[in-house]
Amino acid sequence: MSPRPGRFGSVNASPNDQKKLLDIADLDVRLRQAEHRRTHPPQAARIAELAGERTARSHELAAVIGARDDIKSELGRLESDVALAEARRERNSERLAASTNAKDAQALETELAQLARRLSELEDAELIVMERLEQADADVDATQALIDQLTAEGTQLTLDGKAAVADASTLIDALQRDRGAVIEAIPADLVALYEKAAVRSAGAALLQRKTCLGCHMELSGTDLQQIRQASSQAIVHCPECGSILIRTEESGL
Ligand SMILES: [Zn+2]
Repeated sequence: MSPRPGRFGSVNASPNDQKKLLDIADLDVRLRQAEHRRTHPPQAARIAELAGERTARSHELAAVIGARDDIKSELGRLESDVALAEARRERNSERLAASTNAKDAQALETELAQLARRLSELEDAELIVMERLEQADADVDATQALIDQLTAEGTQLTLDGKAAVADASTLIDALQRDRGAVIEAIPADLVALYEKAAVRSAGAALLQRKTCLGCHMELSGTDLQQIRQASSQAIVHCPECGSILIRTEESGL
């Protein structure tokens, strides 16, 4: 009835203490999940995406502001051309009114007609440029509004992300307290065996219907036979994954 000592090791523990390893294994799963949520909050991916989008839109904004500045300069040049032509028209009109020489008057009238055409052309050009300026203003406003929206979404997500990280941290603290309490209640050498097994496996797993719930492999008849022969105090490991197997009435032994 006594198992080969080399097969099951020197640590012995009551079935009740062994069963508590399942609580530790469960807490460790939840700790890993909480740790993942703490280091990878669900908002992180979208926050990074928003930052990239915002950079692209900021370049776009600089471009549309540059284009608008060019249009403003163009409009400024047209306005000064209009002012020059108007001043010249006024001067010629005064000279025409004061003229007593028919030939001079003829020349002034010709020039006034040319100036009228020139002013009409300049005013048409001004209208076109003003329409383009209006469109450029709309482009700048739309791009800025999009950036504001991206910023607002990013700010909200950052807040949500911080809250998620804080929640995960609180949960981690609570789980660690629970884990500490379970560990304090069972022998240290049993915990050490668990920690060693947990490096490469679930640490401890229920043996249910001849199957290790750590790796979901059904144990062979030979392995089950050896486990049957082991005392209930012996620590038995899954031959497949190395988890400490917790035996119950459901184990199928
Ligand atoms: Zn296993």
